[in-house]
Amino acid sequence: AADSDEPAPRLTVIGTGYLGATHAICMAALGFHVLGVDANAGKVARLNSGEVPFFEPGLPELLAKALDSGRLRFTTSFADAAEFGDVHFICVGTPQQPGSDAADLRYVDSAVTELAAHLRRRALVVGKSTVPVGTAARLTELVRRVAPAGRDVEVAWNPEFLREGYAVDDTLRPDRLVFGVSSDWAEKQLRAAFGPVVDQGTPVVVTDLTTAELVKMAANSFLATKISYINAMAEICEATGGDVTRLAEALSYDDRIGGRFLKPGLGFGGGCLPKDIRAFAHRAEELGVGQAVSFLREVDAINKRRRERTVELVAELAGGDLTGVRVAALGAAFKPDSDDIRDAPALDVAAALHRLGAQVTVTDPAATDNARRSHPELAYATDAMSAAEAADVVVLLTEWNEFRLVDPEAMGAVVARKRIVDGRHALDPGQWRAAGWEYRALGRP
Ligand code: NAD
Repeated sequence: AADSDEPAPRLTVIGTGYLGATHAICMAALGFHVLGVDANAGKVARLNSGEVPFFEPGLPELLAKALDSGRLRFTTSFADAAEFGDVHFICVGTPQQPGSDAADLRYVDSAVTELAAHLRRRALVVGKSTVPVGTAARLTELVRRVAPAGRDVEVAWNPEFLREGYAVDDTLRPDRLVFGVSSDWAEKQLRAAFGPVVDQGTPVVVTDLTTAELVKMAANSFLATKISYINAMAEICEATGGDVTRLAEALSYDDRIGGRFLKPGLGFGGGCLPKDIRAFAHRAEELGVGQAVSFLREVDAINKRRRERTVELVAELAGGDLTGVRVAALGAAFKPDSDDIRDAPALDVAAALHRLGAQVTVTDPAATDNARRSHPELAYATDAMSAAEAADVVVLLTEWNEFRLVDPEAMGAVVARKRIVDGRHALDPGQWRAAGWEYRALGRP
């Protein structure tokens, strides 16, 4: 695969969740020999049998092809991984620590320790997980201590920017590659490991380890800030009678500002932005520079208030008291085209409505199974129309395309009361009001 005289490096991908499975499958699609490693034997078995354990458009087809090609397989064995790979990508989770804002690094530490214990020849260990600054330096020491090959094992950092729902395209055609390295050799290995992607003209930014770790935190902080910025404007609109959707549109034509990630609504969630901004703020405080990013606390607070405000809007439409009110919740995933419910605003709102006494029926095109496991107290329906049956209030929480396409006349015929809260500005208020609905949305009169 790689465009050089040397044979292409053999790759392992350690941790085959949303990020790692995508990375392993896409690298095999690019022609590399890849071994995926996960501690979860069930996940490994499913992947080896051709099943992607989560929802990601395009990925099942690529997995089938990669398995057929013989270039990809999955294992739980770190000994096999160490034996197999020249370049090892670390893709395990770095969730928020329970009871703290800090990132939980136990999975990274254990994956690297287990791998390093078997490394008997020169190898590059490449972190892709999102980590607090300073982790790569710490892992460098750890690897040198643990690996039989000692100083022949180097650590590099290659932060990942893929978006769930677009993960295949983002991996095969990224906006940029960031290579955090501490030697020319490591850079050369990374260029070879991404040969076909580099050759298509993808910008490559080569940095030290520290900067590479910071790039990811800086990128996610910026994106979260942009969303909370427009949602702060929504709060002001709510107090003044302005319309935040028109405000956002007007801002978006200024190309210094730009319209992307400037969509007001229920705010951000998922397995990345919320925990990453908290971990960044926490790490900065540890380093004595907390003030530099203290605004991230505000970004987080604005984001949480959108969830509370959505619950209030539903209660207002229901006449103030939610006891016994039947609510149809359209959406559970943290965003459309994903089954990921980690820190999902939609489920957070649905659960809050339930706690306040509402009878909530949730529907989501991909995330219902995950949602049912984490929120068994809620009821579930297979689609929007059945969720809406006899509902007193409908609330749109995740902007799946099929929810955008709901016909207000048809849904109006099955609900008990035509009242809808559009938590994502996904619907046309004129159309819904014309069909007799009481329509409410965040930041709009
Ligand atoms: P995930 O929970 O889906 O996957 C993590 C995987 O690691 C799981 O399959 C788990 O079984 C496995 N694992 C845990 N400990 C292990 C060990 N010791 N050895 C081997 N496998 C182990 O998480 P994810 O969403 O793929 O995120 C992984 C990392 O990538 C995180 O740091 C995240 O912040 C970052 N990231 C994620 C995305 C995304 O869109 N999901 C995008 C960019 C960066």
